Amino acid sequence: MRSISIELKIVVSIIVFTIFIVSLERYQISENIIAQFVASKKSKHTLLKETISPIIGLNLSLGLRSANKEYLDQIMKQNADLSSIKVLDPSGKTLYSSSKVSEQILTKDPNDMNFFNKNILDPVTAENLGSVQLYFFDHEYQQVVEKNKETTVKMFLLTFVLLLIFVAFVKREFRHLKKLSRSVLSYDPKENNFNLKHSPRTDEVGIIHNAIVSMVEKINSHAKLLDDINISLEQKIKERTQQLEDANSKLKDLAITDELTQVANRRHFTTHMKEIWELAKRKNAVVSVIMCDIDHFKDVNDTYGHTMGDEVLKRIAKIMKDSLLRSTDFVARFGGEEFVIILYDTKTDQAKILCERIQSSLGKVHGFELNGKKTGPVTLSFGISSMIPDIDNSSDDAVRTADIALYQAKNNDRNCIEIYLENRAQPRIG
Ligand code: GH3
Ligand code: MG
Ligand code: MG
Repeated sequence: MRSISIELKIVVSIIVFTIFIVSLERYQISENIIAQFVASKKSKHTLLKETISPIIGLNLSLGLRSANKEYLDQIMKQNADLSSIKVLDPSGKTLYSSSKVSEQILTKDPNDMNFFNKNILDPVTAENLGSVQLYFFDHEYQQVVEKNKETTVKMFLLTFVLLLIFVAFVKREFRHLKKLSRSVLSYDPKENNFNLKHSPRTDEVGIIHNAIVSMVEKINSHAKLLDDINISLEQKIKERTQQLEDANSKLKDLAITDELTQVANRRHFTTHMKEIWELAKRKNAVVSVIMCDIDHFKDVNDTYGHTMGDEVLKRIAKIMKDSLLRSTDFVARFGGEEFVIILYDTKTDQAKILCERIQSSLGKVHGFELNGKKTGPVTLSFGISSMIPDIDNSSDDAVRTADIALYQAKNNDRNCIEIYLENRAQPRIG
């Protein structure tokens, strides 16, 4: 729809306003012209009245009634706007009467501007001889007034109609602008709730409307772009977090794992031992600690080299780890060629069975091979200590007493399992 531009509307409104002002002005001027017209008529009629009254007076004083009649008939003929002449004697009796209209419509109203009355005086004695009454048509006047009225009313009507059209246009524009502002105010890019489409209008309102619609479209596409970026950012953050968690977990493992043997390190053993000890204390459970040392390991290093020694340490650690059956069983490298095993809720005889299982697995190896070299059979010595944690003992006591038992195993020619028994000479087992 092609609409009228605001510029044109403003021009039209100025024209309407000008017409209105001109109408007012014109009305005022017309009123003045009419007033002047009336005044000029009045002076003309007065002049006629003043001119004819002495002649009538002369004729009457000389008794020239027929001459008077002729004269007045002549006056009637010559003055088209003169409707009637009457001459009355002092008693009011009609001496002469001539009229172009019927007698009734003459008002004789002294206020009537078309009625003129003049006393007739004797030119010599100044005696009152009567009066002359003149009536004039007011057609011209009426015509001018009517014409003026008609033009003024037409102009006012035209102005009024134009004003109504203009107001209707303006109201329509404001309705459109209000709708546009409401949509803009309630617009939320997250909800994408701007429902106005491009307008086919080409006027200023159409231009503003389309500019706003285009702007909203751009904001929407940017919001979508931002959403996409956010989603991919979230995805990246997720991936990075996962990578960090993995790296942390690896670091944690590294911190608690012995680098060579890949079993728990000494630090991990210390913390884990305390935790198990506290748990067992609460549950009133037995904790068995096994100290294990490779027999004559110095000889392995000395005979086959340090690298072979490392290999033996790795292989034995693996044998020990593989021999554990319960999830709570725990093995750590205590230091050098010594290992420690913690067994939660496990009594001495069960701990001893585990030691035997390790011995059996190791026994099947018959020496370790590396780079074409092979060691002789390697044996282990074990010391077991089993305790129920209470206020009189500590995890250090368990470790210490297991170590005592191991010492006894070493003293008993090695490759054996010793159990720590308090206040008793330690018997040799296995
Ligand atoms: P015993 O039966 O009395 O325990 O004798 P042993 O030779 O095993 O004990 P000793 O304490 O005399 O020697 C332990 C050896 O273990 C000495 C040391 O060089 C070696 N050792 C300690 N840690 C490592 C290690 O990480 N790698 C290697 N290859 N050898 C180690
Ligand atoms: Mg040792
Ligand atoms: Mg040793």
